[in-house]
Amino acid sequence: MRRWLFADQLGPHFLDGAHQPVLLIESKAVFRRRAFHRQKAHLVLSAIRHRAAELGDRALHLKTETYREALRRYGEVVEVCHPTSRRARDFVRAQEKVTVLPPRGFVTSHEDFAAWADGRRGAARLDDFYRHARQAHRVLMDGDEPAGGRWQARFADVPRPTELPPPPAPVEDDIDAEVRDDLDRWAAEGIEFIGRDGPRRFPATRDEALYRQQHFLIHRLPHFGRADDMLADDPWLSHSGLSTSFNMGLLEPLPAVRQAEEEFRAGHAPLSSVERFVRQVIGWRDYLWHLYWYLDAGYPAGAHTRGRSSIPDWFATLDAESVHARCLSAALAAVRDRGWTHHAVRQAVLGNYAVQRGWRPTDLVDWFERAFVDGHEWAMIGNVVGMARHAELSAVTTDAYAVSGGHINRTSDFCTGCRYDPKQRLGADACPFTGGYWAYLHRTRERLHGNVRMTRALKQLAQIPDLREIVAQERSRGDDAP
Ligand code: SF4
Repeated sequence: MRRWLFADQLGPHFLDGAHQPVLLIESKAVFRRRAFHRQKAHLVLSAIRHRAAELGDRALHLKTETYREALRRYGEVVEVCHPTSRRARDFVRAQEKVTVLPPRGFVTSHEDFAAWADGRRGAARLDDFYRHARQAHRVLMDGDEPAGGRWQARFADVPRPTELPPPPAPVEDDIDAEVRDDLDRWAAEGIEFIGRDGPRRFPATRDEALYRQQHFLIHRLPHFGRADDMLADDPWLSHSGLSTSFNMGLLEPLPAVRQAEEEFRAGHAPLSSVERFVRQVIGWRDYLWHLYWYLDAGYPAGAHTRGRSSIPDWFATLDAESVHARCLSAALAAVRDRGWTHHAVRQAVLGNYAVQRGWRPTDLVDWFERAFVDGHEWAMIGNVVGMARHAELSAVTTDAYAVSGGHINRTSDFCTGCRYDPKQRLGADACPFTGGYWAYLHRTRERLHGNVRMTRALKQLAQIPDLREIVAQERSRGDDAP
């Protein structure tokens, strides 16, 4: 039977056999409905068209306004692997001529996750799930024990090299040129995009993704996760740059972590870095995926996720020039120019500011999904809702996501040259992240009360003499660009 592949199901592991016929659909309505980053639209269309070219006569490639129109035009029964969003799942389930298969592209199955989580009501924590996944799939295990004796390996106190080779940039071809022309035409017709056009920076084919993975394993894995402070002039640090390839289905997670483990076993990469990579891929990534489906529609809509206001225009449209706060301006500029930043900037700067200001988490999920080349609803909901819930409910994660300017100063070089002072919480030089942090804690103190990890911060809050003025200052700053 012909297999319909969505744009995040493009690797060979979404097909059975070397001869299976394929349906690929480009729906213009997807881009008409919401304003995506221009580089994300390019990557998606480029990947679909490259896959169609690779498959040749096996692929039926339809360019239509909607998926429904394409299915009607084809007219026969197709099968599809479980899509990655609720909207798409509901759509395919409602089609008479579509058979839905189990999901692929993740390590743990829905059933395995449900069996694990059912036994831990209210405490389905990431750390526990990660251990479960390591044991179940025999990754970095020595017998029944984790390699090195610890589930989370310690980093040796060695600084990373000052210069790491960046991930190899793909070389654009005629397909990319055609995509660029089409997107220019769509823009002229009135379809809106955010961000700037630019060279394609992420793999659109399996070969490009494998090449980047190999480059990462050799050059960057040995330093992965080490000394990853945010540097204004280094967008990649030691990150893999593989998230788009995993999320588009060009790479398979379990083979990738097995190869990383081989690098450790062969003595080419330290356990600390390999373990961190494994944790990101079979721990955090799979955990977010399963949480999205396990908790289903109630997850983003719960009482703890309600915000005070929607995202302001300057943030939503990536208007970095209107922002004086150096860290926030740099973060927005990075998203505007590349559609990507590494996770520290996403959490400590972008997400943190949104949480402090009380912007609606559902809006934030939508924004991250549209503005980031690797953004998908399933990945963003867990991250953003985790941030919005801060530390008040720890079913999702034990990390806290609201941090002050002092934290950003300790973990980045952004504050040097900023017009604000990260130590000041009140006055003309007050850092909006520092004032915003204390105002946020004040606003949410009742919810946070009783959480052991917040005890110290709440004690500090109670001792701030000028708290009333800080709260008034941040209220008047409001949602204006800081
Ligand atoms: Fe960001 Fe505050 Fe540092 Fe400026 S001083 S870069 S606003 S944290």
